[in-house]
Order: sequence, then structure tokens, then C-alpha cells
Amino acid sequence: MFHPNWKAKRKEILHRDMHRCVHCSSDKDLQVHHRQYHFIASEQKFRLPWEYPGHLLITLCESCHSKGHNKYKVPTITI
Ligand SMILES: [Zn+2]
Ligand SMILES: [Zn+2]
Repeated sequence: MFHPNWKAKRKEILHRDMHRCVHCSSDKDLQVHHRQYHFIASEQKFRLPWEYPGHLLITLCESCHSKGHNKYKVPTITI
């Protein structure tokens, strides 16, 4: 289901956040959220999900994640 590189990155972020949603501390249905999306101007393509630095990735439960996406648009930054 997940690309092996994303699996590894996901594991790293979940571990860093101690397997808890950073908003509500739930440990159920955890997902890793991107705080920004990067468009690489020189390559005319989006950065791959696992290529983001750790501070742009956070652990959220499914419920906080979908609420967050309904409320805020993830900014796309051209780099
Ligand atoms: Zn949550
Ligand atoms: Zn997200």
C-alpha cells in the first residue's frame, strides 16, 4: 500500500511523535501529515512525500487529520 521509502519516513515521524496525535494525543489511526508541499522549480515537479525534512511532517490521528484538511489548505511553496 505504501511506497517503502514512505513507510520508512512514516515510521521515523511516528517514532519521533511517540505514536500519538500531536493535537489530541490519540494513538488510534495515526497518519503523517505534510505541513507544506514543495514544488521544485528547477525540476518542474513536486517533491516526493518522503523527501521532506522532519519538521514539515507531523503525526495526526485520522479525525484531526481530516478536520485539518477541511479547515486549512496545505500551502504549496515553490523552491
Ligand atoms: Zn487527533
Ligand atoms: Zn495531511
